[in-house]
Amino acid sequence: METPDYDNEFDAIVVGAGLAGSAAALAMANQDLDVLVLERGQSPGTKNVFGGVLYTPTVRELVDIDDAPLERYVAEKRYGVLTETDETAVTMRPGEWLEEPHNDSYTVLRGSFDEWFAEQAVDAGATLLTETTVTGLVREPGGGAAEGRVVGVETDRPDGTIRAPVVVVAEGANSLVSEGAGLRDHHDREDVAVAAKEVLKFDRETIEQRFRLNGDQGVAYNYFGEGAVGDAVGGGFIYTNKRTVSVGVAYSIEDAVASDQNPEETLNDFKQHPAVAPLVRGGRTVEYSAHAIPEGGIDAVPDLVSDGALLAGDAAGLVLNNGVHLEGTNMAVESGYQAGRAVAAAVDGDDGSVDDRALATYPEELADSFVVQNLQHYDFFQELAVEDREFLFSELPRALADAETEYFAVDRDPKEAHAEAAKDRLLDAAGGYVGAAKRAWKYRKLLS
Ligand SMILES: Cc1cc2nc3c(=O)[nH]c(=O)nc-3n(C[C@H](O)[C@H](O)[C@H](O)COP(=O)(O)OP(=O)(O)OC[C@H]3O[C@@H](n4cnc5c(N)ncnc54)[C@H](O)[C@@H]3O)c2cc1C
Repeated sequence: METPDYDNEFDAIVVGAGLAGSAAALAMANQDLDVLVLERGQSPGTKNVFGGVLYTPTVRELVDIDDAPLERYVAEKRYGVLTETDETAVTMRPGEWLEEPHNDSYTVLRGSFDEWFAEQAVDAGATLLTETTVTGLVREPGGGAAEGRVVGVETDRPDGTIRAPVVVVAEGANSLVSEGAGLRDHHDREDVAVAAKEVLKFDRETIEQRFRLNGDQGVAYNYFGEGAVGDAVGGGFIYTNKRTVSVGVAYSIEDAVASDQNPEETLNDFKQHPAVAPLVRGGRTVEYSAHAIPEGGIDAVPDLVSDGALLAGDAAGLVLNNGVHLEGTNMAVESGYQAGRAVAAAVDGDDGSVDDRALATYPEELADSFVVQNLQHYDFFQELAVEDREFLFSELPRALADAETEYFAVDRDPKEAHAEAAKDRLLDAAGGYVGAAKRAWKYRKLLS
């Protein structure tokens, strides 16, 4: 493939046309910067994997969301705790979610959404070059004041060096470019989850009847406990699209390696759970994918700006996964947007000079945003989940299932005896009143 002569033609280069990359490009193009976006896929979205619910507060700021290829809005959420045979679930369907803006939560298919989102950046003036893999960053050679500064990218195209004053790296979780360039360390194994996902095809009526949906309503179901992903720290999910259902599992890579737990088998087991099988039965698999999720929290976030390069989205480890929330899409779009704004303020389009103080506003703005604040607030969770894994993923699900079976038992014993036995079962699992109080205190931040 011939490489267009883009060397020194642009004010900034963005690596990756995912959510973070296109948001960064949009923010820069909106400020009249000449931006080049490089994407390894045939088109944006073809290489992207997620659950998934797209959270759209920042997307809405950037584009007209009414034109976006959304699948369904999330009308119902369910959190289910699974043993091998039981389910204990909480289901929520607040009336407010049925109204615009639908809690800014929509299922999407990334193949369509990312392509559309990148098109918005192109419409705003950005240039998109697909089927182009960035293989490394170019640094200023020694001798001058700018020695070591990132001044461009190497690509897999012939004569593929492209120089520009600033590079935004938004390459996602598989952060080979930023690691190779020393902008971040390799993700520690305990900071990454492995995920496997299938997209199953149904007709629209089957989905709407099975999940009790009207029109564009959809569901987001999350499952935990040994019935979801066995002994591992993690969970399973089901999301409804218009004519497909996404079903998947995500769990710690550390556990996957330690227990030799294969994602494909784990997903198959999850699909066969008695609470899950009726929801996914009869679907034809039209897509299968596996991917990593960075979940090291705030401590695993590297410097967001160094040597004239900026990191955004999963490449910077900006994902919130605390068992209740799995949010990476909103973090990717917000961080890309903030990175793009900082670059627009920093680069002088006439002479290509870069104001490093303006670049440094990116981490400052992000620190003031929900992105860093949420990561900081829920930072306690991952460590506790590992520490309490036996309780959270095995003992508690079993105790809940036993207690509800006991509490609702219909026989010739008085109800009071069953209620007492149910309470004893729960207290036993929690370590008595003192143990229960200690655990409630430990996990209080999940509710505050
Ligand atoms: C199974 C799973 C389920 C998830 N579910 C949810 C969910 O329901 N809700 C939610 O909010 N988040 C979810 N997440 C997290 C969410 O998907 C990510 O946080 C989000 O996609 C990150 O966006 P990004 O733009 O940083 O990276 P990506 O979306 O991964 O985009 C990176 C882009 O860069 C391109 N690229 C990579 N390397 C190069 C290179 N060298 N050269 C050129 N291009 C390159 C890729 O092809 C891709 O287009 C889930 C993740 C997984 C894996």
